[in-house]
Amino acid sequence: MDLTNQSRRIKMNRIAFIVLAVLQLRVSLAACDTADYSNSSPVELLQAYIQINTTTYNDLSEAVEFWKKLAVLADVPVNVYEIVEGFPIVVLKWAGADSSQHSIMLNSHMDVVPAALEDGWTYDPFSGHIDENNVMYGRGTQDMKSVSIQYYTALRRLKENNVTLLRDVYMTLMPDEEVGAEAGMIPFLESEEFAAMNVGIELDEGTSFPLPVIAVFYQDKVVWQIKVDCHGVSAHGSTFPATNETATGKCRNVMNKFFEFRDEQYELAKVAPPNDAGGYTSVNINKINGGTANNVIPSLISLTIDIRLGTTVNEEQMDAKIRQMIAESGSNITFSYILKNPQSPATIVNASNPYWNAVTSAAEELGVQLLATIPPGSTDARHVRNAGYPALGLSPMPNTELLLHAVNERLAMDTFLDGIDLYEKIIDNLANIPADYTAEDGTEYLKVTAR
Ligand SMILES: [Zn+2]
Repeated sequence: MDLTNQSRRIKMNRIAFIVLAVLQLRVSLAACDTADYSNSSPVELLQAYIQINTTTYNDLSEAVEFWKKLAVLADVPVNVYEIVEGFPIVVLKWAGADSSQHSIMLNSHMDVVPAALEDGWTYDPFSGHIDENNVMYGRGTQDMKSVSIQYYTALRRLKENNVTLLRDVYMTLMPDEEVGAEAGMIPFLESEEFAAMNVGIELDEGTSFPLPVIAVFYQDKVVWQIKVDCHGVSAHGSTFPATNETATGKCRNVMNKFFEFRDEQYELAKVAPPNDAGGYTSVNINKINGGTANNVIPSLISLTIDIRLGTTVNEEQMDAKIRQMIAESGSNITFSYILKNPQSPATIVNASNPYWNAVTSAAEELGVQLLATIPPGSTDARHVRNAGYPALGLSPMPNTELLLHAVNERLAMDTFLDGIDLYEKIIDNLANIPADYTAEDGTEYLKVTAR
């Protein structure tokens, strides 16, 4: 064995390794600067999107750039509207053959709820790490960056396969769904830009489901939040006033009333089918504030109560019930609404609605089972329905553990890819509903269910 030659070879190898490493570094730096995604697979696109930290209130300009690049790649126009400064709304347009027809609006939100490795994540929540089972971890994999990439990929495939769409299709990307849409969907629905889109149906987010079905949200429960202030005598901690004259005593009465109502509703919730949270009103006392010192009887105790109205609940009757419960709890108790969303109508989910037929026939063709669902919470779609347009919420994640907003939010990439096939069919069907098949007024496909 020639030792000199061997050590020379090792040295050469080491130099080659360093050169390669430097080259690789330059390539990856270049990829960061000029990433154009032209050769990216859908999974790589999702990964790149997850890696942009779009936690609500973060600067979204990187996400906006991402979508601008994808629009260029798809050769479709893109517009960015900033109705409220710092909260961009991105709109991509796939023009159909007849723009006078009602369009299809595919909505998703760019923002995600906060996540940090320290919360107990196995991988960095903004890495889009894919494990050995082909499951991608990351904030937004379920809620709802996956859906945005699915819409986009499906639309690109349709275009590349020269599938004609009769109706315009818009992808809209919102900045602040997770905190109430005050800068996103709510003002957007009142904008000229939205009016010009001439929307016929809006698709929005749904949820993952642990069974082999995809939930389709057709109505949202709305939120009421109230703050109750119980005023009572304040005195030294050694004095002994009547219970019902103290702030805490009054608060006890308020809590008893609301828990009584909660217990009734809980009985209804226990027997409610998993796809219908509309039949009960949830009530949770989420904040109890008050007190100044350990030896002072407080003059004020405040309660914050979160209520999600059953979909058949009459708003006036509910308001009267709240007032009565508080009035019966004692004197000097005041309350105010923090949030009082109006009841939201339901999208009609039967054969009389051609949009519903388009979605269900796509699922049938692919052997996918849909389940019309009223979820316990709410999405941006409630604002759309309130504005008079039918909306359906679905995120194609069957057989998937519910991890929206959770630690280790993740999605199997096979499920993600299947979802693209489903959207391809759904979009093709929706955008090709014949011209004379949809009502001029979207409220024809909505019904108010509150009694
Ligand atoms: Zn969401």
